[in-house]
Amino acid sequence: MDQRQQPFWVPVLKLFGMAFCFFFVALVGMYWFQTGSAGGTEISSRFIEPEITEAALVLGVVVPEAGLVPLLYSDESDQDPKVAENLKVAYLTFDDGPSEVTPLVLDILKEYQVPASFFVIGSQVEGYPEIVQRAHWEGHLIGNHTYSHKYRQIYAGSKAFFADLDRAEAVLMQVIGEQPRIIRAPGGTRGNFTFELAGAVLASGYQLYDWNVDSRDTAAPLVAAEIIRDQVLRQAADKAEAIILLHDGPGKITLPKALPGIIEGLQQQGFVFSVINEDTTPIVALYH
Ligand SMILES: [Zn+2]
Repeated sequence: MDQRQQPFWVPVLKLFGMAFCFFFVALVGMYWFQTGSAGGTEISSRFIEPEITEAALVLGVVVPEAGLVPLLYSDESDQDPKVAENLKVAYLTFDDGPSEVTPLVLDILKEYQVPASFFVIGSQVEGYPEIVQRAHWEGHLIGNHTYSHKYRQIYAGSKAFFADLDRAEAVLMQVIGEQPRIIRAPGGTRGNFTFELAGAVLASGYQLYDWNVDSRDTAAPLVAAEIIRDQVLRQAADKAEAIILLHDGPGKITLPKALPGIIEGLQQQGFVFSVINEDTTPIVALYH
């Protein structure tokens, strides 16, 4: 018998040892790879998926024969943490500024410590850049409301709309160093936006917001402050999320008189205030 011959289990043990080492290295490698790629998925879903989802939502509910299709995603309230906490959220939105009225609005918002969203017109921003800067610095949202606000021009087609939107973006980039991705269609999407335009806007990564509370402050050149206030409070009363349409364009001098009553009234109704953000339920109405 050869004394140098190893027992049969020695090579078997070596083989098992090697296999274990290989398995261990592979396991560590897989864990490292998965952790790395999970981070990547999170980033991409944050920036890409919401746009696709939102576009899909709009594209999914527009029925070609149905004409006007209002999109009120009220059933999604459980996805919004603020609504889930039973908080009523009011979004004050001011269109068509900035103007000489806007600083008065900003003063009131500051006094009440209430944030708001300003959908500014590019050509107006050129006239009052410092007011937009102030609103931005004070924590309000600056949204794009196109450069010209001329319906016949901007609604001539997708190309014309994007050209006007881009022009406003360029102005805002110079003034606040950002290009807002949240936009409001001049006049609202209803009757102005086609199915194709809405799809193109959402596919380009913009968030589009109409409103569900209309102050009707454009029903006449000047509407009395009490009427604006009562209109807002009446319409907001039964809502969990109120996107409130107001105008701070040139000459809208009753707005600063109406605003304190609107804020206090909404607070009495149990509302908290926020700027429009990715948790805000999109409200868009479309004609096909
Ligand atoms: Zn407007």
